[in-house]
Amino acid sequence: MRLLLCLTLLLGGIAPALADVQEVRVWQSPDKTRLVFDLSAPSEHKIFTLNNPDRVVIDLDNARLNADLGGLDTRSTSIRKLRSGTRNQKDLRIVIDVAEPVNASSFPLAPNDVYPNYRLVVDLEQSNKARAVVPVKKADDGYDDNKRDIIIAIDAGHGGEDPGAIGYGRTKEKNVVLAVAKELERLLKAERGFAPFMVRTGDYYIGLRERTNRARKANADFFVSIHADAFKYASARGSSVYMLSERGATSEAARWLADKENESDLVGGVSLEDKEDHLAMTLLDLSMTHKRNASVQLGNSILGQMGQISTLHKKQVEEAAFVVLKAPDIPALLVETGFISNPQEARKLADKSYQQKLARAIFTGVTGYFRTHPPRGTLLAAERETAPVFSTYVIRSGDTLSEIAVRNGIAVNDLRRLNDLKNDQLRIGQRIKIPNT
Ligand SMILES: [Zn+2]
Repeated sequence: MRLLLCLTLLLGGIAPALADVQEVRVWQSPDKTRLVFDLSAPSEHKIFTLNNPDRVVIDLDNARLNADLGGLDTRSTSIRKLRSGTRNQKDLRIVIDVAEPVNASSFPLAPNDVYPNYRLVVDLEQSNKARAVVPVKKADDGYDDNKRDIIIAIDAGHGGEDPGAIGYGRTKEKNVVLAVAKELERLLKAERGFAPFMVRTGDYYIGLRERTNRARKANADFFVSIHADAFKYASARGSSVYMLSERGATSEAARWLADKENESDLVGGVSLEDKEDHLAMTLLDLSMTHKRNASVQLGNSILGQMGQISTLHKKQVEEAAFVVLKAPDIPALLVETGFISNPQEARKLADKSYQQKLARAIFTGVTGYFRTHPPRGTLLAAERETAPVFSTYVIRSGDTLSEIAVRNGIAVNDLRRLNDLKNDQLRIGQRIKIPNT
């Protein structure tokens, strides 16, 4: 007995630990199927494709299957069936029968706070489909090229392997923020002069840099990433709006949240090949000042609306080094809709009518800003240029000049000068000019 134990220990020192495949998950995005295998130990692997019939083969060294491949729901994916077999008495072969030719790639992920296991990620990309077609509504009926819609990129944080924060009642951030994002999409679709672009449309993960890349390819005028995070104190509550800081975080919570958000790629899974070079990013420095100003104003506009439906965590736009906001040429903000780690807020965040209120607050903030700052070439910019400079107001009983001035956001003196008024006396039925702002 003792001898056997020694022998095992000795062998254990030489041979790598046996890797148990403990669980398999599948995530479908518009352009690929992602399979994730949980392993009890790291395992060397090879992956290749075969055709007639189309299939993907994964060979794992010194591994065995301890999960139910047949129980995996693959109905919405390109996978027909998963099979397995033992090779060389100690290795595991997994065969994935697919409905159409795919490009297969794979990468391992190390354990982390969310996943204590080693993971093997296998991506099956439909090879006959163009990658990530950008479905942006340009020029509707009656629009021409110079009157395009203002494109708002909506990024629902996390997704797929990355649940985001998990709050009270097991509420997952990835689901809450997708619901808010879809509601915001619905509102923008119905709004003349605006078009939404959904960065993530379902329950799958997209790398942080890929998110802004997609927004840029969609010619987005603004990028908003929606989150509902956790903090180490359950008492933390309220919504916040963050912009990218190159200098450092404006508060402890901002730094803490940015660190957590930036870990998403480790949890959700990003292949090293996806990391783009940073040179292209820094070349766009010139537009940074404009981007910062626009981000601050947009952030204040959204905070103004959020403040009416929820407590604000901070009354001004906060700053921290969020990777997902690093698109130098597009104004970008991260909206924390609330703390899912706070029991009261978790309940609200899971509630459909509150999700609708949140979406409407972001919608009103964004559209309000762009109505007064429409980008060149957009329908709203064209309408602003041709809009009459003044409108006419007919005086009614009880009107005073100062009250009309306040109502229209101009100084009484300007109103007096504009209308050549010698004094503030008004008569009913008198017509006065009001500047259109
Ligand atoms: Zn988040």
